[in-house]
Amino acid sequence: MLTTHPFRSDDALHEECGVFGVYGVAEAAALAALGLHALQHRGQEAAGIVAFDGETFHAHRGPGHVGDNFSSKDVISKLSGHSAIGHVRYATTGEVAQRNIQPLFADFEFGGLAICHNGNLTNSWHLRRQLVRRGSLFQSTSDTEVIVHLIATSLKDNVEERLVDALRQVQGAYSLVALSQEGVIAVRDPLGVRPLVLGKLGDAWIVASESCALDIIGATLERDVQPGEMVVIGPHGLRSVRPFDRARKRLCIFEYIYFARPDSLVDGVNVYDARKRIGAELARESHVPADMVIPVPDSGVPAALGYSAECGLPFELGIIRNHYVGRTFIEPTDQIRHLGVKLKHNANRILDGKRVILVDDSIVRGTTSTKIVAMMRQAGAREVHMRISSPPTTHPCFYGIATPTKEQLLASQMSVKEMERFIGADSLAFISIDGLYRALGEKGRNAKAPQYCDACFTGDYAIPLVDHDAGKVQTQLSLLAETA
Ligand code: AMP
Repeated sequence: MLTTHPFRSDDALHEECGVFGVYGVAEAAALAALGLHALQHRGQEAAGIVAFDGETFHAHRGPGHVGDNFSSKDVISKLSGHSAIGHVRYATTGEVAQRNIQPLFADFEFGGLAICHNGNLTNSWHLRRQLVRRGSLFQSTSDTEVIVHLIATSLKDNVEERLVDALRQVQGAYSLVALSQEGVIAVRDPLGVRPLVLGKLGDAWIVASESCALDIIGATLERDVQPGEMVVIGPHGLRSVRPFDRARKRLCIFEYIYFARPDSLVDGVNVYDARKRIGAELARESHVPADMVIPVPDSGVPAALGYSAECGLPFELGIIRNHYVGRTFIEPTDQIRHLGVKLKHNANRILDGKRVILVDDSIVRGTTSTKIVAMMRQAGAREVHMRISSPPTTHPCFYGIATPTKEQLLASQMSVKEMERFIGADSLAFISIDGLYRALGEKGRNAKAPQYCDACFTGDYAIPLVDHDAGKVQTQLSLLAETA
């Protein structure tokens, strides 16, 4: 049992997550489990599903991957019902408390409600303090629970109005899915920072963080849930509501760079194509003579393909990734830890005497780049040029992507030249912010008002950082060094 203080800011988790919801089909929980499999890249720490069978809610949640929790027939058959929601979660603090695993569930005056959330609220500490003063007893440290308490204390008549009432008080990024006795409700925050799509399978409606979760169950992609839209799905079909003031859309640009799966369509754009176009733009901006283009697998692959096609150099798999390494490797001594560098990546034997261009999507702390550049040299590469398909990550994300604090972000501490020396490359270049926008079909970042949330590259935080500005910042957030 945890004894966390309800206001401890380092417990207010930054989470990367995936959400899924289905209404109107037999074995809804089995579809949710499949959908969550497709969203596994959005969170690997914990998974959960809640189903409703017309009378009773059934829940199963646990730490680990979807397969660890939902591969047994017994588990799925206990989750009976025609509607279900599910969640995968990647919490960036060290421990996964069982009570933080979503969907969260509570019994209200109007009946049960399960709720799950992708994103991060920026005023949850502030709201939590007010709620606790008024008598709310929090069960978890997750920001999503603030929404649960706001629903509980709302004086509105029904679940839909109470949810709107709650969401009008929160600030931050959320793509949220809720399951009540009446059906499924899905909401995307007014700026649409996190993605959310709507699909159909026969007469059943599906909502999911990404379209790849629709593909896996054979559902068709109907459309994106629009920023600021709430879709209410029940026995009478689907209704779209616009409960918030209109705002300018600011989808997270990092979804295109790294986070979303390449086979997903996010806001109508194929992520794989976007990454290739970003790679091509990177080549136009910063190409150097070389013999081959090598991706840092897997995230650098589409950008490297685009880069190689643009500059006409061969694309080679110069680094092989071992897909079977988890995060649980125990590193007892320095000697073994050193060997551990090659656990995840190994150089292919094609590099001797070659000038290589390495393409990765981002540099966060610089751990991966430093290791990989050294690995290239050990394997005989004559020159190593690092190209990054995002601008320098200078600012932490407060809207749901795991990043370390500003001080731990290499690009916030060093110039590009200094980073080049730090990682040991012959040259280092990042795509420019305008180049990134061009690759996504815009004229440049400031040609009109920015279309994306790019705060991690520009420091332009489109949603107020209420808790942060009050000094309630997450301190040591990320296990990135271990996951990279
Ligand atoms: P680092 O090694 O700390 O510089 O991190 C950079 C590497 O981490 C890159 O290879 C990225 O693909 C990967 N990466 C970037 N952002 C994230 C994130 N939010 N979560 C996990 N991995 C990430």
